[in-house]
Amino acid sequence: MAHDASNQSLMQRDLGVLWHPCTQMKDHETVPPVPIRRGEGVWLEDFDGKRYLDAISSWWVNLFGHANLDINRALVEQMSTLEHVILAGFTHEPAVELAERLVRITPPALTRCFYADNGSSAVEVALKMSYHYWRNQGQKGKTRFITLANSYHGETLGALAVGNVPLYKETYEPLLMDTLSVASPDCYQREPGESWAACSRRLFADMRRTLERHAGEVCAVIVEPLVQCAGNMRMYDPVYLRLLREACDEFGVHLIADEIAVGFGRTGTLFACEQAGISPDLMCLSKGLTGGYLPLSVTLSTENIYQAFYDDYQNLTAFLHSHSYTGNPLGCRAALATLDIFQRDDVITANKALARRMAGATAHFGEHPHVAEVRQTGMILAIEMVRDKASRTPFPWQERRGRRAYLHALRKGVLLRPLGDVIYFMPPYVINEEEILLMADAAWEGIQLATRD
Ligand SMILES: *Cc1c(COP(=O)(O)O)cnc(C)c1O
Repeated sequence: MAHDASNQSLMQRDLGVLWHPCTQMKDHETVPPVPIRRGEGVWLEDFDGKRYLDAISSWWVNLFGHANLDINRALVEQMSTLEHVILAGFTHEPAVELAERLVRITPPALTRCFYADNGSSAVEVALKMSYHYWRNQGQKGKTRFITLANSYHGETLGALAVGNVPLYKETYEPLLMDTLSVASPDCYQREPGESWAACSRRLFADMRRTLERHAGEVCAVIVEPLVQCAGNMRMYDPVYLRLLREACDEFGVHLIADEIAVGFGRTGTLFACEQAGISPDLMCLSKGLTGGYLPLSVTLSTENIYQAFYDDYQNLTAFLHSHSYTGNPLGCRAALATLDIFQRDDVITANKALARRMAGATAHFGEHPHVAEVRQTGMILAIEMVRDKASRTPFPWQERRGRRAYLHALRKGVLLRPLGDVIYFMPPYVINEEEILLMADAAWEGIQLATRD
């Protein structure tokens, strides 16, 4: 049966059958979900033709705009050739070529690609691989993971256990494995006059102490390099990663870099680890991997880790993890088309100018009486609203100030999705100057409105 779609009808049908992610569904009694009919570039359009600037890249996945012609073309071709094939015992060109290219462009020690189909799964793979590596080495006492306060690594139980955002984690605590949590290098905590580097270096002491005390029972340290995105876009200095790499080597512990959100140019370099000049033992990628088109993820490992699983079958050392859609050809093809755009358009260089424009458009935000900090790492810019600027006292969370800014920006035609009271921009890389100004205007007005009593 054909339904004539309109904003109203789609909202109603949606509320009859859907359960939305990360949503208190009762909120939709007053604010229904926004029905989107089509997308183009940074724009999303509803059934009345109202447009929304996607300032958060649809949960950080989109890199080169919606309905991107190059990615579309690559997918149409792939779809008519091979949509999917089992990756156990079989292989295909997109999976091989993508792995070759990822090995080439990621930090040098990473030589192997294990595919999965979303970010959380890539994290689960990394955790299992690390534990299993030590087990294969005869070190069965290594069963724990070290994680940073305020970190986020996904929502499945293993990934949730190594994260530390209470809002997502607390409810499920009884179901989660026990982890060792150490101070975050978050530079929002820096002392007056302290540099980012000095702050992150000072906060490393807790990590070092924990490694000294627990290395014998620890498989790996897992971190989000440079930006704790879901943890309110808190940022830190690359020096922390350098110190961590050295310490992990010293204490015989793996370093897992979760670049699911920060990979593919978000922090100003293709991968955030580059800014510290380090190579992790395991690296998780997803989100921007397919340019925001299809769910695909990859966990890259060093040759050393790979070799610890490589043996006669009878020795039972193989990594027997799988997902039905592992290495899906359409996802891999979208990823290849995305990498082609990075190369063809010298995106990393072009983004430097975009990042400067975002900084320029928000230069006055820091003076707002309820803005504690405007912080930026590459193509991620965040604005933290507080009740009291001098003491950095937050607004009571129940007041949902960020939500007020969200609703205002929506009316203005800009999709922001504040994390609590932190408004941030993480736009597709095809945004232009005028659109940056529009995005900043909507945020500024949203802040005025949200912080008024
Ligand atoms: C989004 C995210 C994940 C989880 O990815 P999903 O595809 O949503 O499961 C893991 N780690 C980080 C750092 C993320 O931002």
